[in-house]
Amino acid sequence: MTQESTKADGPRVGVLALQGDVREHVAMLERLGAEAVRVRRPEEFATVDGLIIPGGESSVIDKLTRMFGLADPIREAIRAGMPMFGTCAGLIMLADRLVDAIDGQQTFGGLDVTVRRNAFGRQVDSFEGPVAVPSLGGDPVRAAFIRGPVVDTVGPDASVLAALDDGSVVAVEQGNLLGISFHPEISGEPRFHERFLQRVAERIAVREG
Ligand code: GLN
Repeated sequence: MTQESTKADGPRVGVLALQGDVREHVAMLERLGAEAVRVRRPEEFATVDGLIIPGGESSVIDKLTRMFGLADPIREAIRAGMPMFGTCAGLIMLADRLVDAIDGQQTFGGLDVTVRRNAFGRQVDSFEGPVAVPSLGGDPVRAAFIRGPVVDTVGPDASVLAALDDGSVVAVEQGNLLGISFHPEISGEPRFHERFLQRVAERIAVREG
């Protein structure tokens, strides 16, 4: 076992590890039997069959991925259909359009949505609560929101997986891309990671014919 990855029989999945809550995602992936690889360089990214983009600070993730030569390979992989799962800042990175971005902030894109950063008011910028996600089946998910974004508009190519009682969209999906405003890896909720790993398994199966 190396420091950078863990041995498992499951698929080899990356967690973008330049900034943000990387450890919690690695732990969740390992719990679900995947091999988790911390991705900081293009050479590491080239070895994985899916990528999780963690929460953190999206403008920093944007700058660092450009600086480390990862932004363009990630964009190409999205176009080629690699499954990716973004939580919070990760959702921001997967959005085609942003509201309240900092000057010059870029995203990878791929989700036909407009995402508003830091969308909850100051008093309620962090909270935890149940969110119904019908397509996951079963009980509502326990969702931790930490200065999270919301999805302002959803284009025709993306679909809504979950909204709060006030109508704020907090989970979307488009093809192999999944983006959510909150942190299931912190509240110990495995079903989004399972859904992502299912996409990864399907893609491996297609590739291996
Ligand atoms: N507010 C952060 C941003 O704009 C996201 C917060 C988070 O990922 N927990 O990138």
